[in-house]
Formats: sequence, structure tokens, C-alpha cells
Amino acid sequence: MPERRSDIRNVAIIAHVDHGKTTLVDALLKQSHVFRDNEQVGELVLDSNPLEREKGITIVAKNAAIEHRGVRINIIDTPGHADFGGEVERVLNMADGCLLVVDAAEGPMPQTRFVLRKALELGLYPIVVINKIDRPNARPAEVLELTSDLILELATQEHQLDFPVIYASARDGYAGTSPDVRGGDMAPLFAAILERVPGPECDPGAPFRMLVTTLLYDSYRGRIAVGRIRDGAVRPRMAIQRFAHDGGRGSFRVGQVFGFRGLDRVELEEALAGDIVAVTGVPDVLIGETLADPSVTEPLPSIALEPPAVKMT
Ligand code: GDP
Repeated sequence: MPERRSDIRNVAIIAHVDHGKTTLVDALLKQSHVFRDNEQVGELVLDSNPLEREKGITIVAKNAAIEHRGVRINIIDTPGHADFGGEVERVLNMADGCLLVVDAAEGPMPQTRFVLRKALELGLYPIVVINKIDRPNARPAEVLELTSDLILELATQEHQLDFPVIYASARDGYAGTSPDVRGGDMAPLFAAILERVPGPECDPGAPFRMLVTTLLYDSYRGRIAVGRIRDGAVRPRMAIQRFAHDGGRGSFRVGQVFGFRGLDRVELEEALAGDIVAVTGVPDVLIGETLADPSVTEPLPSIALEPPAVKMT
């Protein structure tokens, strides 16, 4: 039977460029006592993938995991630019909620709208973060109104209209529920995430299934499949199958299983439904394919690989 895990929250972060996504994740990491300084990129190097190199832009999502009051919050970065083969949907599909970061002076911008629309289509619970509240030209009341209008227009489910609003200065490391907040810490934002975003729904007793959302490359381990475990559990050396895009099915054995802690990746002996993991051992795996227990007969619904050219509205 599907149940909800209470020890995890999977949250995507959405923002127009320069509205403060990176600064906000940094502030959250700092206040959960995991510093970027400790980043051990040698552990599992995120080499740029060929497509990324070709296009000259970053299309690989970066994940960060933060521990707060015993709950692990996985923060899932979303590509803010125009879509490539369903990348935005696949990344958002790992999350149950989203932080919609909007600059308190600039207000919502085209990219805010573009990614928000997809997030709301997927049923995510939004939390509005009006950032840069310290700016002298901040106009939080108007920006909230514009953002609310946008959510009202794009919402697909009733629950999305009842969103919390957090005012923040990511740069100065504080947040609050009133636009007058000028100090303190990020606790109100952590609280909003824990309260508002549901834990991942999962069926821990079902056979393992995971949709591959992102690929990492590592000179030693080759291709590494990243995704959210939908059902069951995955362990190192476990037998699995790959449902390939061409309809073929192949048998493999999992190499290592990595979880995300802070900005690092740590090796795990087991990961469960709801967790976001990186799995080695399936050399030719592609984005959008399913990895599953050998007993599984159906792959997870894949998300469009080649959607029509996306228009920024
Ligand atoms: P991203 O493109 O969304 O990742 O944006 P960044 O986090 O890189 O921030 C863009 C710029 O806005 C940087 O110069 C930040 O220092 C600045 N910035 C971010 N958050 C705040 C804030 O709360 N207040 C002010 N005044 N500047 C901020």
C-alpha cells in the first residue's frame, strides 16, 4: 500500500536567473551546518556531459540535501532556461513541492512563469519566496500580488492556491512571514517546507522502480543514473533490469548506490522509495528509462524526450 514518508521532503527550486536561487541554497546549507567549503567533488565528479558541452550550458540538475529537525530536505535545482527533451518536467517530477523564488524588486519574470506552469501541471505544492527583501527598491506587496495572479492563472489543483509566503534575504540569511522581517535566520522557510510540502508517496513493499532523471559521468564508474525511487528499495550488487527506450530489456547488477548529503554524494547500503539516488552499473542507460527489479513487467511512464520547440512566454 502506498504511504507517505515523514522523514523526507523533495522540493524543487524555481527562479528567474539572478533572483537568488544559488544564494538561497547556500544560506540553507550554511544554516544546516553543511558548508560549500566542505564540498568533496572528488567523491563523485560531475563531469559535464556531451550534450551539455555541445550546447555550452548547464542542463544537469544539481541536488543538495539538508537535514532539518531530523527531516532530510532534498533541494532539486531546475534548469531555468528553455526546455530540452522534457528535462524540466523530469526534474520537477522528482519533487512534491517547489520554492518559487521571486526578486522583491523585479517581480515574476518569463522564466518564473515558464517553470512554474510545468510545476503546477505536475501537481506540486508551491511556496512563494519573495527574496532580496533587503533591497531599498523592494516592493513586496506588489510583487506578491503579481505572483499570486500568476499562481491563480496557472494552478491546476485547488490546494495550490493555498500557498505560504516567505519573505527573505538570502544574501543576509534570514526569512520571515512578514514583509517587514529584517533579521533572524532561515527557520521560517525550513518550517514552511516541513509543513507545506508532503513527504514522498511511495510503496516500500513493492518491487524496485526508478525513472532515470539525470545522468552523471564519472571517469571511473562511467554513466551514473540519478532519479527518485518510486517503489521498493535499491542496494549495491542487487540484480535489476533496464527498460530501454527501444523496447528492449536488459539484466544488470547495481554497482554502488549514492545518496545526496549537503552538496556531497555519499555511498549507501540501501535507499528506499522517496529517496533521490545515483546508481552505477548500467553502462548505457539513458534519461527517461526505467530501472527496476527483475520481476517488474511495466516501466514507469517516461516523460517526452523530444517535445516541440518550447516557446518562452
Ligand atoms: P541565481 O541566478 O538565481 O542563482 O541568483 P544568485 O543566487 O546567483 O544571485 C544573483 C545576484 O543577486 C547575486 O549578485 C547575489 O549576491 C544577489 N542576491 C541574492 N540574494 C540576494 C538578497 O537576498 N539580497 C540582495 N540584495 N541580493 C541578493
